[in-house]
Amino acid sequence: MKGGKLIVFSAPSGSGKTTIVKHLLRQEQLNLEFSISATSREKRGEEIHAQDYYFLSTKEFKTKIKNDEFLEWEEVYRDNFYGTLKKEVERIWKLGKHVIFDIDVSGGLRIKRKFPEHTLAVFVKPPSIDELKIRLKKRKTESDSKINMRIAKASAELATAPLFDVIIENDNLEKALTEAETLVGNFVNSKKKDA
Ligand code: 5GP
Repeated sequence: MKGGKLIVFSAPSGSGKTTIVKHLLRQEQLNLEFSISATSREKRGEEIHAQDYYFLSTKEFKTKIKNDEFLEWEEVYRDNFYGTLKKEVERIWKLGKHVIFDIDVSGGLRIKRKFPEHTLAVFVKPPSIDELKIRLKKRKTESDSKINMRIAKASAELATAPLFDVIIENDNLEKALTEAETLVGNFVNSKKKDA
């Protein structure tokens, strides 16, 4: 594969990483395109196929695993598979753009390991587990048991923060957005080779 740079945003669910990624995508000078992941989880709220995710059945997802179509994939929650299709990254590189990922911690670190020279791996840290719980409840998109599952996973994910290139503390959104913009701007304009 040959192309631009890879910018990974990983964080526990509810840390605000999606808000940060969406903000960065609006900055045209950064020349970023969102990597649309494949998932076997159910569509939530207003989500659109081939825009938010490629929604697949579990069977379709497993076939793609078998055919080695993924750059990385994870069973992020039980029976909920998520993954980055190799084809997706190729699509973005063909557009002459850099790829930005909103993926879980293990997937993010896997991409960093595969393309160490070309990846900026950013960890978004929520102020606290309690605050995370409040944010997930406010979102009102999941049942209590699903929220508890996300919180349990969040504690383990927080421990991986030091493995990332940078940590952004999201206790003040405006500050986090500015920091992310500067970081990514410096990275895409740096002389680090494209992949
Ligand atoms: P959600 O269900 O809230 O959309 O996503 C749940 C988790 O899966 C989030 O942490 C999200 O970043 C992660 N995720 C989304 N796409 C991918 C992917 O392609 N690969 C991996 N490893 N994780 C993903």
